[in-house]
Amino acid sequence: MNLSHIEHIGIAVKSIDEALPYYENVLGLKCYAIEEVADQKVKTAFLKIGQTKIELLESTSPDGTIASFIEKRGEGIHHIAFSVADGVQNALVELEGKGVKLIDKAPRKGAEGLNIAFLHPKSTVGVLTELCENPNETK
Ligand code: ZN
Repeated sequence: MNLSHIEHIGIAVKSIDEALPYYENVLGLKCYAIEEVADQKVKTAFLKIGQTKIELLESTSPDGTIASFIEKRGEGIHHIAFSVADGVQNALVELEGKGVKLIDKAPRKGAEGLNIAFLHPKSTVGVLTELCENPNETK
C-alpha cells in the first residue's frame, strides 16, 4: 500500500452556508464545488489548500451519519482521507490481512467521482480514516 498524500480532511458542520464565510473570508480559501452525495445523506463543499482539500460535510437528513456525529460530538473534524497511489482495493486486501476492521469491504463511489473506502476507528486509534483513489489518475 502506497499512501501519497492527505487527499482531504472531512469536517462535520451544521450548515455549509454558515461555515463557508470562515473558510473563505477569514482563511482566504475558495470553495470550488458543492455536491450532494445522496446515498450518504450529505451535502459536501470542497476547498483546496495545496494538493489537500477541506471537505465540509452537512447532513441532509436528521438520521444521517453526520447528523448523529454532530449530536454526539459537536461540529469538528470527522475524518481524514489518504490518497492511495496503488489502488483502494489492493489497500483493503492488505489492511484486512493485517487485522484492520473495515467499514467498506470494497471501494465505492464518493464525492468527486473518487473510489473510496472507510476503515473502522476501532482499528485506527480513534480516527475515522478514508482511503481514496482518483480512477483517472491510478493506472
Ligand atoms: Zn471524505
